[in-house]
Amino acid sequence: MQTEDKLLMMPGPVKVPSSVLRAMSKPMINHRSKDFSEIIDECQKLMGPMFNTNPDNIVIISGSGSAGMEAAIGSVINKGEKVISLENGKFGERFKEISFKYGDTVPLEFEWGDSFDLDLIEEKLDAGDISAITMVHNETSAGILNPAKEVGKLAKKYDALFILDVITSFGGDCVKFDEWGVDIAVAGSQKCIAAPPGLSMVAMSEKALSKMEETTCRPYYLDLLAYKNSISKEMKETPYTPAVSLFYGLLEALRIADSEGIENRIKRHRDMTKSVRDAMAAMGIEMFPNLNKYSRYSNTVSAMKSPEGLSGEDIKKEMSNRGIIIAGGQNRLKGKIFRIGSMGAVTPLDLMTTISELELILYENKVIDKIGEGMRHI
Ligand SMILES: *Cc1c(COP(=O)(O)O)cnc(C)c1O
Repeated sequence: MQTEDKLLMMPGPVKVPSSVLRAMSKPMINHRSKDFSEIIDECQKLMGPMFNTNPDNIVIISGSGSAGMEAAIGSVINKGEKVISLENGKFGERFKEISFKYGDTVPLEFEWGDSFDLDLIEEKLDAGDISAITMVHNETSAGILNPAKEVGKLAKKYDALFILDVITSFGGDCVKFDEWGVDIAVAGSQKCIAAPPGLSMVAMSEKALSKMEETTCRPYYLDLLAYKNSISKEMKETPYTPAVSLFYGLLEALRIADSEGIENRIKRHRDMTKSVRDAMAAMGIEMFPNLNKYSRYSNTVSAMKSPEGLSGEDIKKEMSNRGIIIAGGQNRLKGKIFRIGSMGAVTPLDLMTTISELELILYENKVIDKIGEGMRHI
């Protein structure tokens, strides 16, 4: 099967609209020029309302989402400073691992897919002297949406910087940077924005920017203050040569999101994941996350428990044989769950194809005994 014939239903990378692919085939330009400055400027302006913050404090790093995560921690944390890293999935774990490199980590680990206990978070903050708290808003590995607003409030109360991974909520779900008191938010190009992988977009608060001035061992390539200084010049630029073609693609993808309207886009993502969940419920497939009062199912990726007798890896493989690429579980969740992304340019028709093939696989493997219950919900 040709790549073009495959249906990418993973939680990133996602399928990319053809106008984005075409935009990337344009000739190279000088990255220290008015033309490139205008690209940065327009990207910032389009992203302001998606982060809900000041566009002037949004920078773009050539590097995938993890580069943005490392830039965020490295730029504000000095050796010996305490960082609470909240973990209920693989990406929370990644923040913890990065924090270990730069500061003194206070891990707060919950089982992957479980919800955060806000009282425990407050206890850790109360124990004292916490410089920052890291959290993944939409934990892609477990399909759970964590409570950014509530954790933001706690961070503010204890005067800790709030570092938030919005990599799979940005452009597909609500991100309220200012209102939630976020200090650094990290997004990525290959998720709900529907551009290719390779760029990380980072929003910063004034508080985070002042903390950077006092951080002595900031990374070199991933120094957010260097990025901020470069976009503060009359001609906006990046400190080092950027991935110019990816910037072309990002700009086109952001224009598409803007013309759809961010509210419409969020609603579309919510409707799509809701229909996936309804289809699963109708087929007797359980959702994976354990929700509490503050957490929600993700509005951009659905994580399901593997049914009795059929592992997530088997489902992924059988789907792949039929040309549909979904995701299994990562690390300790391998085999136990499977995940379907409904990010970016995914359409109801794509979902219909995915759910009907899944339904056939479940039927053939005797997990369900009739066809059509799931599909009716798309
Ligand atoms: C994909 C993802 C990342 C990692 O991004 P890379 O682009 O692979 O570096 C980080 N956090 C979350 C929540 C993600 O979904």
